[in-house]
Amino acid sequence: MKTIGLIGGMSWESTALYYQFINEAIKERRGGFHSAKSILYSVDFEEIESCQRNGDWNQAGEILNNAAHGLEKAGADFIIICTNTMHKVFDDIRKDLQIPVLHIADATAEEIQSRKIKKVGLLGTQYTMEQDFYKARLHQNGIEVLVPPVNDRKKINEVIYQELCLGKVRSVSKQEYQRIIHELQFQGAEGIVLGCTEIGLLIKQTDAKVPLFDTTYIHAMKAVEYALK
Ligand code: GLU
Repeated sequence: MKTIGLIGGMSWESTALYYQFINEAIKERRGGFHSAKSILYSVDFEEIESCQRNGDWNQAGEILNNAAHGLEKAGADFIIICTNTMHKVFDDIRKDLQIPVLHIADATAEEIQSRKIKKVGLLGTQYTMEQDFYKARLHQNGIEVLVPPVNDRKKINEVIYQELCLGKVRSVSKQEYQRIIHELQFQGAEGIVLGCTEIGLLIKQTDAKVPLFDTTYIHAMKAVEYALK
């Protein structure tokens, strides 16, 4: 079994899900007392979030590149970055690394393709929904991406940073997300990408009538598959 390196803490609420999903899947596949070999580098999210807010992506990339090198030195065989947003600086994070980094959008695209879905709605932080780094990666895989209108994007972003990343799960926010999902579906989305690793805390498949792609779960399963390969 390979050792999984996780760059986490963005937020720790979602990293805890990764840890759980990965260990549950290893136990399910290997049985007995098996659990994942893993090393977690958990950052102080305040430092990363303030870089995001100030547009200082270089600094954020440097912090996460340091974390990646720390994981490599500590013996990780490969790395996953436990946030969609910070894949904006994917190339900076993996700079000078010898070990691979599994991209969250590639794992998600593979899953979407395996369900024969061509058009998805994307929910995530404003960075993820509005900038190109994430959507382009899905486009490259032949997937069309719809995002909600500006006011809904603001709402989604607000719920992520002011609630989910602080461990607050509110039913009014869930209803808002359900409404937005419904509208994307009405516009032709055949599936919805939960493109922020905290959204799974709020919305489950049973809350929607359209297939949901929970990037946390998908990315965690990709790591398990790779670790056991
Ligand atoms: N975890 C979130 C994501 O998947 C947002 C927090 C962050 O900015 O990293 O995008």
